[in-house]
Amino acid sequence: MTTYEAVIGLEIHIQLNTESKIFCACKADSWGDPPNTNICPVCTGQPGVLPVPNQAVIEKGILLAAALKAEIQPVSFFDRKNYFYPDLPKGYQISQYDLALGNGGYMELPLDDGSIRRVKIEKLHIEEDAGKTIHKPNRRLLDFNRCGVPLVEMVTEPDLRSADEAADFIRRLRQLFRWIGVSEADMEKGQMRFDANVSIREKGSEVLNPKTEIKNMNSIEHGREAIKAEIKRQIKEVEAGGKIESWTLDWNEDTQTLSKMRSKETEADYRYFKEPDLLPINLSDEYIQEVINKLPELPLERESQFINEYKLPAREAKVLTSERYLADYFEGILESYPGEPKKAANSLINDVLGLMNELNLSADELFLTPERLGNILLLVDEGTINTSTGKMLIRKTQQLKKEPGSIVEEEGLAQVTDSAAIERICQEVIEENPAQVEQYRSGKEGVVGWLIGQVMAKSGGKANPEVVRETLEKLLK
Ligand code: ADP
Ligand code: ZN
Ligand code: MG
Repeated sequence: MTTYEAVIGLEIHIQLNTESKIFCACKADSWGDPPNTNICPVCTGQPGVLPVPNQAVIEKGILLAAALKAEIQPVSFFDRKNYFYPDLPKGYQISQYDLALGNGGYMELPLDDGSIRRVKIEKLHIEEDAGKTIHKPNRRLLDFNRCGVPLVEMVTEPDLRSADEAADFIRRLRQLFRWIGVSEADMEKGQMRFDANVSIREKGSEVLNPKTEIKNMNSIEHGREAIKAEIKRQIKEVEAGGKIESWTLDWNEDTQTLSKMRSKETEADYRYFKEPDLLPINLSDEYIQEVINKLPELPLERESQFINEYKLPAREAKVLTSERYLADYFEGILESYPGEPKKAANSLINDVLGLMNELNLSADELFLTPERLGNILLLVDEGTINTSTGKMLIRKTQQLKKEPGSIVEEEGLAQVTDSAAIERICQEVIEENPAQVEQYRSGKEGVVGWLIGQVMAKSGGKANPEVVRETLEKLLK
């Protein structure tokens, strides 16, 4: 039996998060706005108007290209891509064709078996988005708000080998866009969409067979399912002696099926030519360097640093580098609490993340700063408070907006380690619960946990649980 492998290349569109559109001063983000309210003569293609490039778009494009280790072209051009569609009022889209902002590049993808897949970027360019057609029964409505919204389009080489790899690649790309601040990449808002090119071949072979293209996906999970379904379909087709034809496919999320859309335009159909209304993009070395200098350390580098330097388990390192603010928060804790990175990571993941979600606050809006969290962890390690008081103090600090140390003092939360006081409470609990004591003495030693709970409750949660256990075991002998 033949074993097949999939060959997948992706085309990704990302909406850049600039204030204004790419060639006019209209607001770029129209989410939630009524249709046709962020438009002007430029982005609706009125006669006699001239586009003016938005420098922020070029800067974010350079930043992204640099993050993908692409070569930044000192001179690139805008081109007209001509096609007719109702939501494209100009009749052409301003894009970049043969000489684009970024050339080459790659992103590395760690695979489950520990190896690294280097996914090469074929091209990366900036362009404007088109409007939206809204289909209603018997009519079509046009919303031009999206016309002229800045996009980056990037095309990968066919370097991915399974639906899961493709999904993981998209997830890491999205993480990268958010990390370097070029896009929120909110897929539900259409800020990131992708097409997947899929073919199959005998495992071990190097040939590129005819491919199909699944268009316009805007969810990682649906993308994974669609690619899986298409790989399965192609294998079945080939096994039955059929041929794969270069179809363009549409994935229906509801029915989980692929359908044939149209035969593909070829590049000649677009009659590309240089945009006569715009000068070439000329970038000095100094300017390119200035932008590249703003590039932060990238997620994958931080992830391996967290594993190697702080000895975090891979899973936690992945969670903490899923967003840059989390990675920064984590390292912030270590400034006041350098001793045990693993405890810091656990507390951030288990106690603080939930709090952020619950209160719907971002990391920089929390009163519970990394330093304050570090101080709480120190109070626990020093034995001033016990672990469960520590968890409570995390919430209280945020709630009361007071320093953890003052809360401990004001509310008398310090742990009771005084053995006489603990012994007194243990004695009381033993007297009040003869049945459980009897059970313990007849060999059901697990009951001691319940008795410890009673003592902890009587102490208002402040007793040192270790001392309680020792004392109870001594008294019950
Ligand atoms: P097209 O003629 O469809 O424009 P391109 O060569 O420009 O094809 O590639 C478009 C995308 O398809 C790229 O992401 C590329 O990696 C991918 N691709 C090209 N050949 C194959 C193949 N045989 N199988 C899967 N993907 C492919
Ligand atoms: Zn406009
Ligand atoms: Mg192509």
